Amino acid sequence: MMAKTYDYIIVGAGSAGCVLASRLTEDDGAQVLLLEAGGRDRHPYIHVPLGMGKLHERRMFDWGFVTDPEPGLNGRSIEASRGKVLGGSSSINVMAYTRGHPGDFDRWAQKGATGWSYADVLPYFRRCETFAGGANAWRGATGPLGTEFAKTNDPLYYTIRNGRRSSAATAFLKPAMQRPNLTVETRALVTRVILRGTTVTGVEYVKDGRLLRVGAAREVIVSGGAFSTPQILMLSGIGPAAHLREVGIEPIIDLPVGHNLADHLAVFLSFARSEPGPFHRQMRFDRMAAAMMQAWLFGTGPGTVVPGGLHAFIKTRPEIAVPDIEFMFRGAATDVHLWFPLIRPPRPDGFAIRPALLHPDSRGEILLRSNDARDPMRIVYNFFSAPNDLPKLREGFRLARHIAYQQPLDRFRGAETAPGASCKTDGEIDANIRKTAITAHHPAATCPMGLGPDTVLDPQMRVRGIERLRVVDASAMPDLVSAHLNAAVLMMAEKAADMIRGKPPLASAAVQGGQRRIA
Ligand SMILES: Cc1cc2nc3c(=O)[nH]c(=O)nc-3n(C[C@H](O)[C@H](O)[C@H](O)COP(=O)(O)OP(=O)(O)OC[C@H]3O[C@@H](n4cnc5c(N)ncnc54)[C@H](O)[C@@H]3O)c2cc1C
Repeated sequence: MMAKTYDYIIVGAGSAGCVLASRLTEDDGAQVLLLEAGGRDRHPYIHVPLGMGKLHERRMFDWGFVTDPEPGLNGRSIEASRGKVLGGSSSINVMAYTRGHPGDFDRWAQKGATGWSYADVLPYFRRCETFAGGANAWRGATGPLGTEFAKTNDPLYYTIRNGRRSSAATAFLKPAMQRPNLTVETRALVTRVILRGTTVTGVEYVKDGRLLRVGAAREVIVSGGAFSTPQILMLSGIGPAAHLREVGIEPIIDLPVGHNLADHLAVFLSFARSEPGPFHRQMRFDRMAAAMMQAWLFGTGPGTVVPGGLHAFIKTRPEIAVPDIEFMFRGAATDVHLWFPLIRPPRPDGFAIRPALLHPDSRGEILLRSNDARDPMRIVYNFFSAPNDLPKLREGFRLARHIAYQQPLDRFRGAETAPGASCKTDGEIDANIRKTAITAHHPAATCPMGLGPDTVLDPQMRVRGIERLRVVDASAMPDLVSAHLNAAVLMMAEKAADMIRGKPPLASAAVQGGQRRIA
């Protein structure tokens, strides 16, 4: 028995789910239920940009996933962070706003994701955002998401508005929560979608220890993120048939759900700073307490500034279509902590460059541990199982080191603290990468859209062979973009909302010779 029937049920209030909840409830006639396993996003650390340090250190509002032991990383299990709160990962991320290279989306379209070329998606990137610098051919000025230039001397944008994190929940969901046709249930763990034959009729979830069932008259949209979405589909009998049988689930349809997992793996290159920088001074306990208070009350001051720095997306060879390495630069030490004279000494200050491999060939998979939704899924990346990935990341590492030793940095640079100047040969660098690399928390492509037998979704994000079921989140990406993923996920959800509502897509942008103009 279904407790109640809605028009649409959205599973997961993360980046994608919040956009969908906002856009689908613009139609007064549509009743929408948004189910989220995490709780409300009231904690100040979520909203004050500098609070993210504590969020990450303590893994707050995080599912706490770790990977299986990775053979390519010396058998290490590494953290696989995912937000578990309204806003999902957009409530705990680092707020860098990067969209990807135009060539990424053109590649998606060439691979069969028709309608997802750069010209097609640019209008949706614009529709998402209100850029503090105003609209132009690339940037939007009327969307829910606030974006602004970094306040450090940096060409990067951040999803920050008026000194507060612009998460998907604050930007898209909160304004929509006033609408009578949106119901939001938190602490609701979805255990499976309910099917009659191959048609989805609702979802089953656990809340306060009770198993509940709700109906969906039009569609269920799964937006649980790149780890949980394949888990939910597989628990529902949608996935690789042989694997489902291994865990006692009768398959309804055999699809490569969970395959094709990819992420941005990165390694640290760290230096001492010859003199402490501004962020280090700011970390004195009393200064930081005042800064956090000021940021929380007024949205101003140093607590609103992310101590990032430059992010560079580079091509290691000029002829390749899109960047293959990113440098994430950080002007402060990675192990910085609060200090106070005579009570707790500060750690030495430093800076770091983190080269990341943007387009790995290695592919992993999401597997079920059991047929119980409360058991975390298995996350198997298979890093460096493809032959070119380790040499490419090594090349990125060497380039990062080359940059770090340039003359303009001489006055800031102390000793190389990690991995250390003695790490020189290819073998030594590879060993260090295997020993220390972690991801940038960009898992994607576990239910890719496109054409052909290795895809799970059609280009309208509908699950193949199943009626009334879509996947809208980072799982639906055909492959990784040359960027941090939040902006692309928000854009995908904007576009999906038009598809679900049966609206024509926004007019493609005219893209000519590197100059892009909106048609
Ligand atoms: C630590 C960290 C730092 C990052 N930094 C950046 C950055 O600086 N810039 C950037 O662009 N990207 C960054 N990212 C990545 C980016 O935030 C994510 O790629 C993006 O938010 C993913 O959106 P999503 O909708 O696919 O999934 P999510 O935002 O993860 O949303 C999934 C939601 O579904 C819920 N859910 C899952 N399973 C269930 C279930 N069974 N029942 C009910 N609800 C469920 C989850 O709790 C979650 O709220 C970062 C991510 C992390 C974790």
